[in-house]
Amino acid sequence: MDIPTDCIYDVIVGGGSVSGLLAAREISSNGFKVLVLEDDHEIGTPEHCGGVVSQKGLEKLGIIPRIKTIETNITKAIIKSKNNSFQINSENQHIIVIDRRSFDKELAFQAQTSGAEINTKSSITSVNFVDNLFSIKLSSGKIFKSKFFVEARGVSHVLKKGFRDIIPSGQYEVYAHWIQKDTIEVEFDTELYPGFFAWIIPTGDGKGKIGVAGKNINPSFTLDKFLEKKGKPYSIIRKIYAPLWVRGYIKPFNLDRNVIIGDAAGQTKPTTAGGIYSGGMGGIFAGRSISKSLNNNNDCSYLKDYQNNWINTFGKEFDRMLLLRKILERLDNKSLDKIFSSIPAIFIEKISLSSDFDFHSVALKSFLNTRTSVNFLYALMGNEYRKIISDLSKI
Ligand SMILES: Cc1cc2nc3c(=O)[nH]c(=O)nc-3n(C[C@H](O)[C@H](O)[C@H](O)COP(=O)(O)OP(=O)(O)OC[C@H]3O[C@@H](n4cnc5c(N)ncnc54)[C@H](O)[C@@H]3O)c2cc1C
Repeated sequence: MDIPTDCIYDVIVGGGSVSGLLAAREISSNGFKVLVLEDDHEIGTPEHCGGVVSQKGLEKLGIIPRIKTIETNITKAIIKSKNNSFQINSENQHIIVIDRRSFDKELAFQAQTSGAEINTKSSITSVNFVDNLFSIKLSSGKIFKSKFFVEARGVSHVLKKGFRDIIPSGQYEVYAHWIQKDTIEVEFDTELYPGFFAWIIPTGDGKGKIGVAGKNINPSFTLDKFLEKKGKPYSIIRKIYAPLWVRGYIKPFNLDRNVIIGDAAGQTKPTTAGGIYSGGMGGIFAGRSISKSLNNNNDCSYLKDYQNNWINTFGKEFDRMLLLRKILERLDNKSLDKIFSSIPAIFIEKISLSSDFDFHSVALKSFLNTRTSVNFLYALMGNEYRKIISDLSKI
């Protein structure tokens, strides 16, 4: 079947969220013909994100969000174990909560004004490489062709590749008097949220996103319990459920001209599953490399730069986070309580002043390296802890 020439592109991006739209912006701003195909009927909707991000991270993505996209500024975080808690002052880190519905549309507008086309309600059902071109088929039966395909379809792609080690999560938008507009709350409970935590992300005074994630949990049941504990009255105005990937980046980032970015490449932080900045940079690095390849007769060797640049920027940080995750996954509530109660105030002050939201593994590492923690974790984990700490010092 002949495909009309207006259905043939330099690059087709599957998935119109943060990583896909940034890749599209980058490639089209270099003068290439780009089409973004998005399954959902509206860019940014349904929102499946807490929206917590640093202003510094957004600047690196080349975005100054509009005032209406910023929901609130975060100045403190309360971190809780079952029976203890401490508070970090995060004023220096300029952390904001963004409305992804509005943010993703800003990215779409940037991509479009750079020359990209975006189509919503376009569900890709197959991607094949035939006669030197990708053939992208939609559920409607329509076919588009391109020289490069960018895979930005999120965690669904990770699942499709056969990785099963994902964490179920749920997040409700809630109105409740106990939500403070400048405070994030994170609650660890290894029985209720194994391997992860519950969170309160404010979007204003009295409103926010309440979430839970944990290995093998039922997010709906767990969230209901969490809300019950926080106390009535509250109203749930929206519910979403989505899988999280916390096992690190998945190499290789490209198979010839099929380039994988964002959540689809596992570019989410192994500690918090945050991926706006790290996945967004994936889109930008990939976009630059694809543009170079296109400028050089589709030479795929330029795509190596994408993987190298991303790993040079985030690789060590992700490796450290994975080791720290190993420790956290071994702790029970009693151990966490003990560690939380032993953190010296001076240490918390230091973290408040010096830690970096986007590269927080150093803060976490020193947190687990306070004297009581070391003695305690060594007693708990023995040589395994010594090995992890030794591996961490090599990264
Ligand atoms: C509950 C929750 C809270 C989070 N909170 C934060 C946070 O506070 N801060 C942070 O930095 N990160 C957070 N994240 C992670 C963040 O949302 C992701 O890392 C980020 O959205 C990844 O962007 P992406 O473009 O790689 O993929 P996604 O945002 O997953 O987008 C993939 C896109 O592909 C589309 N798609 C899927 N299949 C098809 C198909 N067949 N055809 C066409 N299109 C398709 C989808 O509709 C979707 O739009 C959170 C994630 C979850 C689940």
